[in-house]
Amino acid sequence: MLENAVDAIALLDDHGCFLDGNQALCQLLGIPRTSLAGRLFSAFTVADGAVNPLDLLLQTEQPAIGMFGVRPVLGVPLDVEYTFTPKVLPSTHLLILRNISQHQRATEEELRRQRQRVELFSEVTLKIRQSLQLKEILHTTVTEVQRILQADRVLIYQVFPDGTGKAISEAVLPNHRPILEMQFPEEVFPVDYQRLYAQGRVRAIADVHEPAVGLAQCLVEFVDQFDIKAKLIVPILQNLSSHPPTEANPQHQLWGLLIAHQCNSPRHWVDFELELMQQLADQISIALAQAQLLGHLEELVEVRTAELQEVNRNLQQEINDRMQAEAALRQSEEQLRLITNALPVLIAYVDDQQKYRFNNQAYADWLGQTPDEIWGYHLQQVWATDCYHRMQPYVKAALAGQVVTYENEIVLHDGSLRSVDVTYIPHLDEQQLVKGFFALTNDISDRKAIERMKDEFISVVSHELRTPLTSLHSALKILATGRLGTLTSGGQQLLGIADDSTERLVRLVNNVLDLQRIESGNVVMDRQVCNAAELMIRATEVMQAMAEQHEITLVTQPLDVLIWADSDYILQTLINLLSNAIKFSSPGGTVWLTVAAKAIAMTTSLDELSPIKPLQPTAKLSMPHLPTIAWFQVRDQGQGIPTDQLERIFERFQQVDSSDSRKKGGTGLGLTICRKIIEQHDGKIWAESVLGQGSTFSFTLPALPE
Ligand code: ADP
Repeated sequence: MLENAVDAIALLDDHGCFLDGNQALCQLLGIPRTSLAGRLFSAFTVADGAVNPLDLLLQTEQPAIGMFGVRPVLGVPLDVEYTFTPKVLPSTHLLILRNISQHQRATEEELRRQRQRVELFSEVTLKIRQSLQLKEILHTTVTEVQRILQADRVLIYQVFPDGTGKAISEAVLPNHRPILEMQFPEEVFPVDYQRLYAQGRVRAIADVHEPAVGLAQCLVEFVDQFDIKAKLIVPILQNLSSHPPTEANPQHQLWGLLIAHQCNSPRHWVDFELELMQQLADQISIALAQAQLLGHLEELVEVRTAELQEVNRNLQQEINDRMQAEAALRQSEEQLRLITNALPVLIAYVDDQQKYRFNNQAYADWLGQTPDEIWGYHLQQVWATDCYHRMQPYVKAALAGQVVTYENEIVLHDGSLRSVDVTYIPHLDEQQLVKGFFALTNDISDRKAIERMKDEFISVVSHELRTPLTSLHSALKILATGRLGTLTSGGQQLLGIADDSTERLVRLVNNVLDLQRIESGNVVMDRQVCNAAELMIRATEVMQAMAEQHEITLVTQPLDVLIWADSDYILQTLINLLSNAIKFSSPGGTVWLTVAAKAIAMTTSLDELSPIKPLQPTAKLSMPHLPTIAWFQVRDQGQGIPTDQLERIFERFQQVDSSDSRKKGGTGLGLTICRKIIEQHDGKIWAESVLGQGSTFSFTLPALPE
């Protein structure tokens, strides 16, 4: 047993000298057995520090197991594992040694190789990760695998949904046939295989011809075409979604295969190779996911870029449009300024704070202040106090949204006094809020002067005419009595014509004088409390004869409404309107004269009583505390007035038919006088008519509350 034991066995005495040893011991120490006895074992041990391990064992005399180094006669030191059993016989100790150097080396070698593989793997992974380009990643993978595995061919085979596939990346040694870009039919890679690989199967075939491998004959023939003897196949899976997988929707899909071929001879694939291939296939899976993400990202970037470009284009267009619009605006502003500056009227824009925001050149000419100086000034800062106060009611009306026109007097920078006609036009925004108003001021001093001269002239002429006319009229009347002699019938007729014409002339002169007096403002209305009913009765009494002459029925409905008016002038107005109604009615017709009292709300303006919105007269005051108006109406069944003439007939000498003056004996001044009288009473007068059916003339006067 001693002789045949693999371990080295030594018997030592108390001093550590060999008593005996077996063959294995002699081999371990490199000495012949004959020279063994009597030699000190400590001469062969590697001392760890000052104490020899063997001396320690002998001193303690305890059984021990351990390791120390042994230095053979020749060769390198060895690591040995020992078992020490003291005193197996008196003064005899047993030492069994086993050489473990080889095993240790093997372990170290293995460790070194593993470290190398890890380094290799991380190096390859890094290379793969350094690129986002899938093609480059695949190429790096096959090249590196081929290099590390020393395989004849390494390729990446992409599997398409229809089962066909293609080698899309390949690293092959020059003496072997490349299969890159070759398209393979479905049969090469049956559906069953696909399913297995999709589940993660790895196939390592050491020899394709080995019947135990179970490759179909056709597949063996196929691989023979490429001299393939051994192959290692790992799947490359694609992660489909982050949702949990279902049967119908597996989490992974087989994207392709990473394949290593050995062509010259069969090859037994080792675990490390399998592991490397698997891990690299996983890296490709990650790269695929990243590529997919990158694809999405690129798509997104492309879409976003296109959108941004579109937005940019639109913006550019907008900028161009705006620049053009601004240029056009500048040009039109320039033109506007040129035009407004060329006009001999004051043109301004005043904001809702009564501050000037635009003025034309005329302001500089008239007031001695340039538009730039006036800009931002309040009206009060530009105009004299009295002038500013006269403006105020109209400014307020304009800022309340009304178009207003009025006359004013202003003092220019040279001290001259000017009559002006002013119009304010409110400026409304989209919400119909007043932002300010446009102000137009016209110098009407010359017109005023002419008007004054004309009025004076008319006054003088009319007065000069009236006296001889009155005597002429009286003379004709006396002649008509026959007291100064009888006239022939022809003479009577001529006298009649002369009398009519004189009467018309007298009326005309009277009308002209009336109008001129009222217009010149020389007439002061003597307003007193009077009853509408009384005036109506008096007017009908005056007109009764004329009505009968024209075969017209005169109907009046007097009502006790107290008014604040000059009774003579209101009577004149009623007579004028009744006379027109009778004149323009056919015989057999009826003319009505009515009055009504009507309460109006404070906010109701008289405009609401205009012909466009006729109100039904109400005799009873529903709200006695509110201001009331008396509403007179003269209605006939005559020929009527065309709509477009309804306003015009209130102007001087305006008649619907120019022959009216001759046929009906009118002057065309009656309605003008009526309007002037009513306006002086703060009332309103207007006409409504249906052609062929009749007309209604209405006027309102302020009434006294009950
Ligand atoms: P005239 O003295 O001509 O009547 P007015 O100023 O009173 O002058 O009237 C002006 C014109 O208005 C008349 O010539 C006539 O054409 C028209 N007119 C006035 N009242 C009536 C009416 N009741 N019916 C039809 N036309 C009328």
